[in-house]
Amino acid sequence: MKIICIGRNYIEHAKELNNPVPAKPVFFMKPDTALLQKNNPFFYPAFSSDVHYETELVLKINRNGKYIEEPFADKYFEEIGIGIDFTARDLQSEQKKKGLPWEIAKAFDGAAPVGQFVNKSKFKDLNDINFSLQINGEVRQEGNTRDMIFSFNRIIAYVSQFISLKTGDLIFTGTPAGVGPTQINDRFEAFIEGEKLLEFNVK
Ligand code: MG
Repeated sequence: MKIICIGRNYIEHAKELNNPVPAKPVFFMKPDTALLQKNNPFFYPAFSSDVHYETELVLKINRNGKYIEEPFADKYFEEIGIGIDFTARDLQSEQKKKGLPWEIAKAFDGAAPVGQFVNKSKFKDLNDINFSLQINGEVRQEGNTRDMIFSFNRIIAYVSQFISLKTGDLIFTGTPAGVGPTQINDRFEAFIEGEKLLEFNVK
């Protein structure tokens, strides 16, 4: 399986990192070794001193597809979960300055914790889903899918022009504003519509 991540999909987050609001989705990938499941701890990597959390809704692809048309793209996922796109911001900033790829800052082991998934039929409107992150019991990020620049369907249609999607692939759909640094001993809890679907400790 592969993990595809959308960058800059919420205007307020693009602004907080001084990035332009994109006209087309920006995406990058994480390998399967980045996946962290079952609420296992995240081990703070030795190569960074500024690891940031980015809380994102995650789509689980449930059939193979290529050149998927936007109006039918919702047939390609049944479940939605929540995950953290961990980013070594210090390394990413260096890469950005040089115009180099981001993998060193985004694709490392454990950089994609993902929680339980729920069936999308649970939500009345996929363009109105609230989600949030608490660290040590304090709310750090709150988002709603109505603020996405590119909808789930648009993301799937766009990405599948370039890369075939396969059953089991995950798509991180971008973070709202409020990203920030994490520290060893932090306790993460992530929620969709108030339901806790992911929790883990930083070690
Ligand atoms: Mg992200």
